[in-house]
Amino acid sequence: MTETLQEQQAACECGVCQFEVGAAPAVRFFCHCTICQAYNGKPFADVTVLRARYVEVNDRSQIAFKKYRLPPNIDRGLCKNCGKPAIEFGGFGSAKLAFIPSINFKRQELLPPPSMHIFYHRRLSDAADDLPKHSGYLGSQMAVGGRIMRLFRGGGG
Ligand SMILES: [Zn+2]
Ligand SMILES: [Zn+2]
Repeated sequence: MTETLQEQQAACECGVCQFEVGAAPAVRFFCHCTICQAYNGKPFADVTVLRARYVEVNDRSQIAFKKYRLPPNIDRGLCKNCGKPAIEFGGFGSAKLAFIPSINFKRQELLPPPSMHIFYHRRLSDAADDLPKHSGYLGSQMAVGGRIMRLFRGGGG
């Protein structure tokens, strides 16, 4: 699997926070951790990840960034207008990543299919699918981190 260039747009629910995405999203997964539950106001997060350098934010002043807990060291941005999740920035090793709620992408058909569930021990309800389900902090981090690192191998930060 390689990163193919593919432009598309993403935006928060009200459209004030807009993002130009310059590459095909890399990894998509479901996260059941309590922070994602609170941040999204949903039982779990559906997140799509790509390198931060491929994402252009139209106006950062419209986004309220907040760190919930360390680690992972993720800046989670809420739109100041609609209060909904806009975009998150974080890193795995030297790779700077953007985490975008999958629902924020304009062209859903360009997104990869979800590949796994993480923090599954925090789930509010069971998932009716055959995707791998990772529980525990370390197991969840390693599952996602390993997948991202394999994908980005050789491509630098
Ligand atoms: Zn908004
Ligand atoms: Zn989470």
